[in-house]
Amino acid sequence: EFRVATMPVIRKSNKLINVCYDIRGPVLQEAKRLEEEGHRILKLNIGNPAPWGFEAPEEIVQDVILNLPSAQGYCDSKGLFSARKAVMQETQRKGIRNVTIEDIYIGNGVSELIVMAMQGLLNDNDEMLIPAPDYPLWTAAVSLAGGNPVHYVCDEQSDWFPDIDDIRSKITDRTKGLVIINPNNPTGALYPPELLQQIVDLAREHKLILFADEIYDKILYDGAEHTSLASLADDVLCITFNGLSKTYRAAGFRSGWLIVSGPKHQARDYIEGLDMLASMRLCANVPAQHAIQTALGGYQSINELIVPGGRLYDQMDSAWRQINEIPGVSCVRPKAAMYLFPKLDPAMYPIKNDEKMVLDLLQQQKVLVVQGSGFNMPDTQHFRVVFLPRKDDLHDAIGRLADFLRHYQQ
Ligand code: PLP
Repeated sequence: EFRVATMPVIRKSNKLINVCYDIRGPVLQEAKRLEEEGHRILKLNIGNPAPWGFEAPEEIVQDVILNLPSAQGYCDSKGLFSARKAVMQETQRKGIRNVTIEDIYIGNGVSELIVMAMQGLLNDNDEMLIPAPDYPLWTAAVSLAGGNPVHYVCDEQSDWFPDIDDIRSKITDRTKGLVIINPNNPTGALYPPELLQQIVDLAREHKLILFADEIYDKILYDGAEHTSLASLADDVLCITFNGLSKTYRAAGFRSGWLIVSGPKHQARDYIEGLDMLASMRLCANVPAQHAIQTALGGYQSINELIVPGGRLYDQMDSAWRQINEIPGVSCVRPKAAMYLFPKLDPAMYPIKNDEKMVLDLLQQQKVLVVQGSGFNMPDTQHFRVVFLPRKDDLHDAIGRLADFLRHYQQ
């Protein structure tokens, strides 16, 4: 007689219960299903430049190819000397003082380093202040580490700047740190030095660690300039993140770095924790680290893409104009990064469930965007558009969005 063993249901760990990452969530699964059925989906959902023809600078690709034979072994847990040296020089260009090679960690993308930075710091129920909307990995990483993400408001009426009073009102004796994503994903905001100074003052006053995710620091429009938070925070512990994925269009290389600056002597124990976590995963992908030195010190081809006549600028400008022409849709002009975060007027489009709206758009018009709630936006009136596809595709996709909204009711 054939007997089927009854297996108990296998569940994910409790650690994952509150973890959420919607950018690659259920709507993407539906898009994959539609593609398998033979539909062409216009994907405005992921900030991955290379597949859209924004290829990495040839010289950094060559670096990886040339060094591949000598990149077979593990390297130092914190990364290759040449890569860290180049990041150190970059801190000098950005005005971040007192950074030595020991303060730099190379990781498999900023993503890995965000998770490490949170795992190494947080105890159960420690609080971390995170922007709303945010790049949702931050919220997920805090939850995974057992911490409580506490979201502060970024105000759409004020160029999506962080609301300092709101941050202040949410600081408790459990607050360990404050995350600043500047330039911001998903809003495209860029914060001026005066605002950053207020943030540093707040962190100093309340003894918070600053976490500055600056991965879009060189993707700037309309003459905007970026100031590194750490350059204003000599006396506040600051952890700065950056990498090759966006400016250098090499997201698939999985290469990023973390810089510790400020009063490091006060953070010896935390730094020991970071060293431990870096050692546990042995080292980051070695071949890709060979690209870092030339990326940072080489020809900055991103600068050609972000000025009028450059592909990224022109796509930003035309997509932004076209979106704002849709009745009941408004969008703050991005100063940086590769995203639009438009708002649907609630009087015209009272959306109860923005994930459903995005799913309906996908099914009806074959256009894929990400709902605002996927970025921990507290309302359901927003969605994110990636303006990496070519102008014709963007124009087509936003046209379809307009058609969709014309009849949409929820
Ligand atoms: N931080 C922000 C703000 C991002 O938008 C992204 C990717 O979209 C990342 C970090 C992740 O970057 P990486 O490819 O280096 O893991």
